[in-house]
Amino acid sequence: MDGIRTCAESLRAACRGLDLSAFRVLLENTAGQGACIGHRFEHLRDIIAACSDLNLGVCFDTAHAFTAGYDLRDEDGLSATFDALERNVGTANVRAVHFNDSKADYNSRVDRHWHIGLGHIGREPLARVAAHPKLSHAAFILETPLDEIGDDERNLAMLRAFVSDEQAGDPSGGEKSCSTSGGLLR
Ligand SMILES: [Zn+2]
Repeated sequence: MDGIRTCAESLRAACRGLDLSAFRVLLENTAGQGACIGHRFEHLRDIIAACSDLNLGVCFDTAHAFTAGYDLRDEDGLSATFDALERNVGTANVRAVHFNDSKADYNSRVDRHWHIGLGHIGREPLARVAAHPKLSHAAFILETPLDEIGDDERNLAMLRAFVSDEQAGDPSGGEKSCSTSGGLLR
C-alpha cells in the first residue's frame, strides 16, 4: 500500500541521525478520518515491519479505536480488540495509552475526544480498559477537553479510581503512570 510505504519512508527520514537507544518512537492508531491510514492495527503492524531497524512501539488511543470500529463497549468487543492488538503489534509493545472517551459514535471514523464516562464509550468499558492486565505496564495519558476549570482533575480522578482497584491487588504496590497531556496533576 502506498500510504504505508510513504509513512515508513517519512519515519525513517525523521529518525535519521537520532540516537534511538534512549527512547522509543510510538505509532498511534488513528480514527481513520477521510483517507487517513493507521486506523487498523494491521496498518501499524505493516509500518513497524517496514522500519524494523527503528525502535518503534505503539500508543493505543481509546477514542480513535472506538470510532475506527473497535467496539470497546462490551466484553466481547474488548477481547476482540485486544486479540487484534496482540496479533498485529503485540500488547507488550503498547507503551502508552491515550485514554479518552469519545464524543463521536462507534464506527463513525470521526476524531472527537470527550470527558471520561460521559461519551459514547462510557464509564464501565473505560474502567475495563484501564484495569486490563495486558496494559498494566503502559503509561496512561488523558487527552480529554478542558472546557471548564477542574475538568482535568475530574477526568484524572476517574482514571485513578479505575486503576486503584487493580493496584490494590498488585503485590509490587507499583503505581500506574497516569497524567494529562498537559502534564502530571498531583
Ligand atoms: Zn491520541
